[in-house]
Amino acid sequence: MNVVVVGRPNVGKSSLFNRLLGRKRALVLDTPGVTRDRIVEPAQFWVRAKPYSLNLIDTGGLGEGQFQEEIRLQVETALKEADLVLFVVDIKAGLTESDRSVFLELRRAGLTDSMPVILVLNKADSDAAEEGMNEFYALGLEHLMPVSAEHALQIDDLKEKIVDLLYSPDLDEADEGNEAAAEEAPPTIPRIPRIAIVGQPNVGKSTLLNAICGEKRSIVSPIAGTTVDPIDLTLNWHGKDFVVVDTAGIRRKNKTEQGIEVLSVVQTRKTLERADLAFLVLDGEVGVYDQDEKIAGLIEEAGCSVILVMNKWDTQVDNDEFSQKLAEEEIRKKIRFLGYAPIVFTTATRGIGLERLFRIADGVLEQRGLKVSTRELTEFIRDESEVHNPDNAKFYFVHQSGRNPPTFVAHVSDPRKVHFSLSRHLVRALRDRYGFSGSPIRFHFLKTRNTGEKK
Ligand code: GDP
Repeated sequence: MNVVVVGRPNVGKSSLFNRLLGRKRALVLDTPGVTRDRIVEPAQFWVRAKPYSLNLIDTGGLGEGQFQEEIRLQVETALKEADLVLFVVDIKAGLTESDRSVFLELRRAGLTDSMPVILVLNKADSDAAEEGMNEFYALGLEHLMPVSAEHALQIDDLKEKIVDLLYSPDLDEADEGNEAAAEEAPPTIPRIPRIAIVGQPNVGKSTLLNAICGEKRSIVSPIAGTTVDPIDLTLNWHGKDFVVVDTAGIRRKNKTEQGIEVLSVVQTRKTLERADLAFLVLDGEVGVYDQDEKIAGLIEEAGCSVILVMNKWDTQVDNDEFSQKLAEEEIRKKIRFLGYAPIVFTTATRGIGLERLFRIADGVLEQRGLKVSTRELTEFIRDESEVHNPDNAKFYFVHQSGRNPPTFVAHVSDPRKVHFSLSRHLVRALRDRYGFSGSPIRFHFLKTRNTGEKK
């Protein structure tokens, strides 16, 4: 697999190159008279405790005054050899004319459509710098990654992203059909969905976990090509793999001096950070606690999808459909902002409701992974913005910038004109059309100057 680095001079391509390589490149660049069309360096990335071999390719710098020539060479190299392009810019300098030229060349050559391009925002070593990220969305590229080559920040994240894009075919449609390359590549990493079981003490989290393990499902130990933390549990439920994260945390009780169990917010937050989906377990015996809303908030903050699990449902004398309706109403009233979360009733002590829980979890995860194309989204959101748009915001284009959780970026004339009710309407419309059941939807509105770059 070949990764080609492109970008105008002075954005820090060389430092990034060396950083990714983990050493200084062998070639001396400054020797006069040496023709150096391109530098190819074999590199090894360790991602999730596995090695990946690939080639890093740089076209070097041609020096002052030869900018157009240099871009041409970069793009040509990328066209001929790349499986993935790292397009490097300087986040502190902002989006310059030269960056735009590089981008236009990439696009003209069809590279932005035919292979993954990661826009690497270098020199992101302060919060202020990260704020500069916004204007780069205007290029409409899907993968943006702020790093600091000099301070070695987020380099591992970048490596992970590169490996994911190159080796996980389900992650991006861009690398489909690259079969020859796939053969010599390391095996594809199975992407196993990660579930966190969270909730107040004593609601039945460990009992639920035990019920999940105890049923006929096979517990699979580390699946080939993956590493699983000892605190996690990998299981196979009707032919599908899941990881339940931080099972040690569920069993570990947080007791105060008086022996009363308390909710550990820090622990819950950490657990959620490692998960795609949370089961928020509620106590069916006592109803919804005030604290449950707080946990719901942590889930939303972490960007996890969520299913509300009303446990101990056997304690209700009338556990019929009518009382379920009442309980659902109570949950909806107390945890208002998780209106999109499915509710499942369980009796963990007897393993009741688990089938349904996993069936719904499967559906939620599938919808979380949905990717809508920029063209379709733009058309859809533009249409919807005609239905309701009190302040007449103008939409240029809309793209889905991520799936974990589903994140959308709309480029508009003026974000202040995006009325609260308009953004709510758009999120609702997205749910009506695509579902995204159980998943939070992030929708950002960015000001886009009319750059004249639209086709
Ligand atoms: P955790 O602190 O959330 O892990 O809660 P535990 O799993 O330790 O459960 C707390 C208590 O609730 C234990 O006595 C369990 O037996 C009980 N419990 C858990 N699930 C159920 C259930 O579905 N029905 C009933 N009646 N009791 C349950």
